[in-house]
Amino acid sequence: MAKPNLTPLEDALDHLLSEAPVVAQIETVALADSLGRVLAENHYVPADVPPADNSAVDGYALRKQDLHGDRPIPVSARIPAGEAPKPLEPGTAARIFTGSEIPEGADSVVMQERIEVTDGGILVQATVDEGQNIRRRGQDLTRGDLALAKGTTVRPNEMGLLASMGAARVAVLTRLKVAILSTGDELVEPGMPLGPGQIYNSNRFTLMGLLAEAGCEVVLCETLRDKREATRETLLRAAESADLIITSGGVSVGEEDHVRAVLEESGGLSLWKMAIKPGKPVAFGAIGGTPVLGLPGNPGSVLVTFLVVGMPYIRKRQGRNPKALSGERIPADFTISSASVRREFVRARKETRGSDPVVAAFPNQSSGMLSSACWADGLAVVPENTTVSPGDLLTYYSFAELLS
Ligand code: AMP
Ligand code: MG
Repeated sequence: MAKPNLTPLEDALDHLLSEAPVVAQIETVALADSLGRVLAENHYVPADVPPADNSAVDGYALRKQDLHGDRPIPVSARIPAGEAPKPLEPGTAARIFTGSEIPEGADSVVMQERIEVTDGGILVQATVDEGQNIRRRGQDLTRGDLALAKGTTVRPNEMGLLASMGAARVAVLTRLKVAILSTGDELVEPGMPLGPGQIYNSNRFTLMGLLAEAGCEVVLCETLRDKREATRETLLRAAESADLIITSGGVSVGEEDHVRAVLEESGGLSLWKMAIKPGKPVAFGAIGGTPVLGLPGNPGSVLVTFLVVGMPYIRKRQGRNPKALSGERIPADFTISSASVRREFVRARKETRGSDPVVAAFPNQSSGMLSSACWADGLAVVPENTTVSPGDLLTYYSFAELLS
């Protein structure tokens, strides 16, 4: 059991997801610009795809009943792809190509490798099943069917399918507009000299990348000094343009943790000491009517809390269809000898030992480290109160799945 003051991840997610309004606006974009966007409406099939029966191979179209032992069949037509064929003359075959329409009267296509061409016509050197090598009209999409549902994220696959239905423009939900606010007097932007006591602001860039991959639009990116008034002003300004404000740092209980304090003043703050590792306190509240997700400051914690807490919330706000992560059960290739009351998200990598998959862990899992995250290709989950020995089955999620 988790300690009473630690909130299980599921409880925090339940709360977050119960307050996750979907972006309201719809825009129409060119199909070419629809990658990663969320469909705002159902797409019904306007006409059968393919629009007519067509050949799956290069060969000859014929009627099976016209085959008589080793008597050649004359070739009466040639049908290139893109041409509307005339009906097949009875007792003959038509030269046909992949994608060519099947002429009326033909019921089978014999691939050219099974044909001998003679002076009197073609000799079929194989048994023929009626319907063979014919791709039926509507076999991909049938007119009137639901092809893609509202809430579907457009991948290259969906772009192709939409194109196959003739869609040139598609209605999509507007991107979720996100403001990134980094907090900390110690932060310096890359490119500037580093003074004593200072570190570079890495969270800003981790979050920019994560949000881009998640299909969000970053509308504002600022660094906040550890001052109460400035924190409030910037949060309020960000609230004017953003659908969501994500902060990093400043949500602990110290007196320099002004994000928490400002949210507390504006009411409705939920602050969880989450039962996950890494992951210090995560805050959720609102300012000026805009939700604020306050992530911890440590770079490793930012990555993990964004993926396991932020992504489900963002996905819902984007209007994407709910999707349970499947993960993979893979034997561990590492040891964790002391059990934690917190669920641990280990920066991990899928490898093979011999021919078997294993999940390996970066040796140092400090929440302050990012090199571990670059070595890793996903997260392995160690349940609460559990030790790990090599061979134990763990659930592993790739970063790609967590961000999908
Ligand atoms: P905090 O929650 O503000 O106390 O921050 C926790 C730790 O994360 C401290 O070591 C901070 O210096 C570090 N940290 C906070 N924000 C950033 C950032 N944007 N980039 C890199 N490290 C950070
Ligand atoms: Mg700080």
